[in-house]
Amino acid sequence: MANILAVAETRGGELRKVALEAVTAARALADATGAQVHALVFGPAGIGGKVEAVAQHGADQVLVCEHAAYDKADAESMSATIAARAKDGGYRAVVMSASAQGKDLAPRVAAKLDAPLAGDVTSVEAAGDTIRVKHPTYTGKVITTLVLTGAPVVVSVRPSAVTPSVNARPLATQAVAPASDPAASRVKVTEVFAGTSTKLDLGEAPVIISGGRGLKAAENFKLVEDLADAFGNAAVGATRAVTDDGWRPHSDQIGQTGRLVSPDLYVACGISGAIQHLAGMRTSRTIVAINKDAEAPIFKIADYGIVGDVLEILPVLTQAVRAARQSH
Ligand code: FAD
Repeated sequence: MANILAVAETRGGELRKVALEAVTAARALADATGAQVHALVFGPAGIGGKVEAVAQHGADQVLVCEHAAYDKADAESMSATIAARAKDGGYRAVVMSASAQGKDLAPRVAAKLDAPLAGDVTSVEAAGDTIRVKHPTYTGKVITTLVLTGAPVVVSVRPSAVTPSVNARPLATQAVAPASDPAASRVKVTEVFAGTSTKLDLGEAPVIISGGRGLKAAENFKLVEDLADAFGNAAVGATRAVTDDGWRPHSDQIGQTGRLVSPDLYVACGISGAIQHLAGMRTSRTIVAINKDAEAPIFKIADYGIVGDVLEILPVLTQAVRAARQSH
């Protein structure tokens, strides 16, 4: 049976969590048919020495493509290389993350291969000769099941929708040359500005504590940050209402016109649950909502709800989470 090609993303010369999510999704597809997973890793010189985790998460072979230009993700050359490899290897599917980089690469690869593309899917499985994926549509109100036929197909998986799982293989690497010289690329990334935050990235955090206008003032976000700190593995998100008001940076915005997230736990604090906000977080595994209005729409999708004043409830929750973590 044809193998699966995963694209394992790097940034700043390091593997990203979404790389392991893509390999895990590819592994599940390959296991259904007894096929292999080959993972393609792009990065600057030396990235080949950092791919152990890719084999640990189920890649039978790790294809390493090193070039200085891949430090800044040269999409033109990378997509040409993925497509060339997909053609040569006769793969059944190309699986990557629907991260910002993956959203840039996946359509280019699909166009080069004249292949079907399912972007931003939340699950992927083999179904006989076809590949079946779930894709949130209408801002997440409808979950569409798509059946992809033919080979190869291109699939990008929403960050955090798949939990990376260890499925160790012996590390086997192979160097791959770029299929197109990055020097010839027509678009060049000249500079990348890293965010100043040392906090977890929203796309990678297993827990997100998000705040809305119900917090009443920018300074009350300290309560949201305290709860995030208490968890130790949480990032802080926000609604557009508060990013528009300048209480939080726009990079924190979750929703239709912000980040799409699927953490294990999403805590919505003083958020009404407007459809545009739900579009960015409704695929979270567990949703907790705190709102003083028992009729707030957020409660319709929440697994757990607390009706009350968020300014009083947050300090109590923070204390409870700290105590629970200390006792373990
Ligand atoms: P509100 O809707 O004002 O809700 C505040 C909530 O806090 C209320 O439910 C209230 O009951 C509760 N509350 C008040 N006081 C307290 C208290 N003391 N304790 C507990 N609860 C309290 N929004 C996004 O978030 N992301 C997007 O990407 C996005 N994109 C958009 C795109 C378009 C084209 C448009 C038109 C809108 C978009 N919006 C987006 C805006 C969206 O429609 C809502 O206006 C916004 O999400 C509301 O934010 P909020 O929940 O913080 O505020």
